Amino acid sequence: MAKVLVTGAAGFLGSHLCDRFIKEGHEVIGMDNLITGNIRNLEHLFPLEQFTFYYQDVSNYVHVSGDLDYILHFASPASPIDYLKIPIQTLKVSSLGTHNLLGLAKAKSAKILVASTSEVYGDPLVHPQTEEYWGNVNPIGPRGVYDEAKRFQEAITMAYHTFHNVDIAIVRIFNTYGPRMRLNDGRVLPAFIGQALRGEDLTVFGDGSQTRSFCYVDDLVEGIYRLLKSDYHLPMNIGNPDEITIADFAQEIIKLTGTNQKVVYKELPKDDPLQRQPNIDKAREILGWEPKVSRSEGLKITYDYFKSLDSDELYRKEHNDFTKYIIK
Ligand code: UDP
Repeated sequence: MAKVLVTGAAGFLGSHLCDRFIKEGHEVIGMDNLITGNIRNLEHLFPLEQFTFYYQDVSNYVHVSGDLDYILHFASPASPIDYLKIPIQTLKVSSLGTHNLLGLAKAKSAKILVASTSEVYGDPLVHPQTEEYWGNVNPIGPRGVYDEAKRFQEAITMAYHTFHNVDIAIVRIFNTYGPRMRLNDGRVLPAFIGQALRGEDLTVFGDGSQTRSFCYVDDLVEGIYRLLKSDYHLPMNIGNPDEITIADFAQEIIKLTGTNQKVVYKELPKDDPLQRQPNIDKAREILGWEPKVSRSEGLKITYDYFKSLDSDELYRKEHNDFTKYIIK
């Protein structure tokens, strides 16, 4: 049994990772400052002996007593709306926070896996994106606070590997979806499903010709689990190469939800990447991994999850009312 620290544990990906490590029989410490995370995503784990929650901001200082085998750094705002609302925290968590966690990994002789992103490729001029592509990022645009912090995160993680011999893994995560996404974080899938459920028109930004490739969360978690267990140290893309335009995606959501609403077009946000699709040859070859869940299967599960939320949740702008929960 290993002891695993997951930062950003109350977030969408962090909470699914906690579930996976618990399922594998490991001891899990979930850490979060709950700025964008929702403690409800972890509620089901609180009664378990194997699970402990630490309410800490990793950008300030990280303290964990005892041994640690693995650290998974998944704390960060991850939607363009969050970057605009909390740009400084976004910069800090992947720079200062990563530095603190690398120090912790070094002190505990733990392996650390950091969550990087397809955003390191910016608005890519190479398509599909391979790991060798260096990217096309605007450092001072609205996404710069996320993109550049993640690029710095890769640099400092690699430096700790080469200079301090810390065992590392770097996953470049492409658009991922599934239950526990925040309904109102502005990302396209919860935006469209939320709009359909509330009887609002679906807002497509730009002319909808921009593309994304959506990976179901269980597939992503499997890829991350395999990467952690491998001895591969260079960045690796994990995502689903099944690419779709946002306009077609809106039509899929309209069909799935059976809404009578139409599509309305809004201005395309600045620096919105025009196309995105992972090249996953490395994951296939090195990890023997590829996505298994089709978009139609994954969307159905995700829609059922959003339908099960109470109407309070559906209309609430944010849901970080964690104070009513006991934090141990
Ligand atoms: N998008 C949209 N309508 C929305 C929200 C997003 O058309 O209500 C578009 C957005 O402009 C982008 C794509 O959907 O082209 C994916 O956006 P998201 O914020 O989910 O992720 P990212 O841009 O970081 O891939």
